[in-house]
Amino acid sequence: MEIIVASGKGGVGKSTITASLISLLKDFSITAVDADAEAPNLHILFDVKHWEEEREIISAHTAFIMDSCINCGLCDDVCVYEAIYTENGAHRIKEYLCEGCGACKAVCPANAITIKPSRSGWIRTALTPYGLLVSAELDVGKPNSGKLVTEEKKIAREWVNSKKAEHIIVDSAAGIGCQVIASMSGADLALLIAEPTPSSLSDLKRAYWLAEHFRIKAYIVVNKYNLNPDFKGIENFAADKGLEILGKIPYDKTVPKAIASMKPVVEFAPDSKAALEIKNLADSVEQFL
Ligand code: SF4
Ligand code: SF4
Repeated sequence: MEIIVASGKGGVGKSTITASLISLLKDFSITAVDADAEAPNLHILFDVKHWEEEREIISAHTAFIMDSCINCGLCDDVCVYEAIYTENGAHRIKEYLCEGCGACKAVCPANAITIKPSRSGWIRTALTPYGLLVSAELDVGKPNSGKLVTEEKKIAREWVNSKKAEHIIVDSAAGIGCQVIASMSGADLALLIAEPTPSSLSDLKRAYWLAEHFRIKAYIVVNKYNLNPDFKGIENFAADKGLEILGKIPYDKTVPKAIASMKPVVEFAPDSKAALEIKNLADSVEQFL
């Protein structure tokens, strides 16, 4: 089974909840995928100090100017990403701004520009006490974060296909962009994490629409539910869409302490209010597994 933990809004506790679920469900042989290639952090909560394998992903394109350049400046005129600059009268490219669109190459009268494949980021794997962790890291300014997530999931699925793990839990990025689309693609179940605020509800709706698009069975988990008890937006939305609220986790000061100690809160403070509710959530997820 492939479970995605998503939210729409960032900072609502996805990684905290994911790390604790993986810790509680470790008897089920889970492979974890940190699918937030722009800001991966699951390895911090799992205290990963050593990566078994690090693989470059070449899925971007970058322009390069060759010696035959006659410095006419036409490429600079057409580059909307402002990736071209001059240095001592010579035209150069800022690689981190170049999107590889090829407009400069199309206008170059001296045929002095070549577009080459370039690295968009890394994929890394670590063996943790909880099982395999697959993590990705996008290079600064590079596109194709969704491709990185797709590659991560391929590794996780190979791990499952070779019987080294039974299930996959994906800690998705925030939002509904290409990383989240790649995370949801092929998933069986989505846990949508939200906080009791209008902003989080708005983003929850967008994440739900995405899950609905992929026909993924979705459940809601409300984090820090007791911070705004008068807010009924999430309950109303769940009722309207026929969605089950699978868990309600209270605000708990031990959670940031657990994060600072690089431990899932269910290990750092197993009897804390948050940990006890996450255990209830894990019991529900166990039924699906
Ligand atoms: S368009 Fe071609 S020749 Fe003109 S400055 Fe750019 S690279 Fe050089
Ligand atoms: S490939 Fe596109 S983004 Fe890169 S330098 Fe050329 S025009 Fe600019």
